[in-house]
Amino acid sequence: RAKERGGSTVCQYDSAMMEAAAERTRLRGLLAGALDRGEFHLVYQPLVEAAGGRPVGVEALLRWQPSGDAAPVPPSVFIPLCEASGLILPIGRWVLETACRQIRAWADGGGPPLEIAVNVSPRQLRDPALLEDVRTVLAVTGIDPALLVLEVTEGLLIEDMDYSRHVLTGLKRLGVRLALDDFGTGYSSLSYLNSLPFDVLKMDGSFTRNLGAAELDNAGGQAVARAIIGLARSLSMTLVAEGVETPAQHAWLAANGCRLIQGYLVGRPEPAPAAAGLIGQLVAEHERRQNERFDFV
Ligand code: C2E
Ligand code: MG
Ligand code: MG
Ligand code: MG
Repeated sequence: RAKERGGSTVCQYDSAMMEAAAERTRLRGLLAGALDRGEFHLVYQPLVEAAGGRPVGVEALLRWQPSGDAAPVPPSVFIPLCEASGLILPIGRWVLETACRQIRAWADGGGPPLEIAVNVSPRQLRDPALLEDVRTVLAVTGIDPALLVLEVTEGLLIEDMDYSRHVLTGLKRLGVRLALDDFGTGYSSLSYLNSLPFDVLKMDGSFTRNLGAAELDNAGGQAVARAIIGLARSLSMTLVAEGVETPAQHAWLAANGCRLIQGYLVGRPEPAPAAAGLIGQLVAEHERRQNERFDFV
């Protein structure tokens, strides 16, 4: 019977593929003018200390709402299109500047000093203008370079180690910090970790998912996460667990020495005003918890 159905299955598959390709072509056309039409905005997701909940920073995440369309297009769809066309260069510059201006505005408004994490795509890393762009944004916004964390994924780093080391070292000289994003999902060659100047390791959400489940049949997942935490510690890198969704995951991570957490449990990515409200709430909760501890003593 499978054979009988085979023909039409292939047909449906083909037409779905053609539709997807046509949609990508349509989006590519829309993307070309999206920046000028003001269709992008940033949302901000908090990073907090696993123990105690103090908010230390936010990650800026790009959102695209094409003017004519009903729904926003997810980054997993439009970022690769921007990468392929090179549009990621002007868009990435806009993200960097907008994000740095935002934490400057929050600090000027009397908020706590927050780190700002900005995703930098492989294409941007290979752009000879990147160093100058980062230097300019730091100068224009006047933020402490140590508050800027550039997040890169491991994929292309090892393809040209010498060049990667050159670019990353140049960025470090500007005083910014570097995070290895989605750690554990890419090539994950451990040898290069030590030879590239990363300050922060972001453990991918797929590892977090396996933690803190009530059942004990999950020893393997816990062992892997524990190893990643230990690796970060022995390389003196700050570990961030991504995708923390449950109190059990949080508790496991805090108990096992993970320094920072990020995920829907703490807060979803939100536009600037809502994100500022959330940070204020997290600060207040943290202070209340500290006072409770003090009262107890
Ligand atoms: P990422 O940098 O690893 O960002 C984390 C992603 O996980 C975000 O997806 C975030 O919304 C999502 N997330 C956060 N907490 C949770 C959780 O508890 N559960 C689950 N299931 N997901 C969670 P988003 O915003 O869709 O972005 C996807 C990816 O797109 C990012 O992954 C990043 O690689 C890329 N991206 C986003 N903004 C930018 C940007 O401005 N520039 C570049 N080059 N890439 C970007
Ligand atoms: Mg990231
Ligand atoms: Mg990530
Ligand atoms: Mg990710």
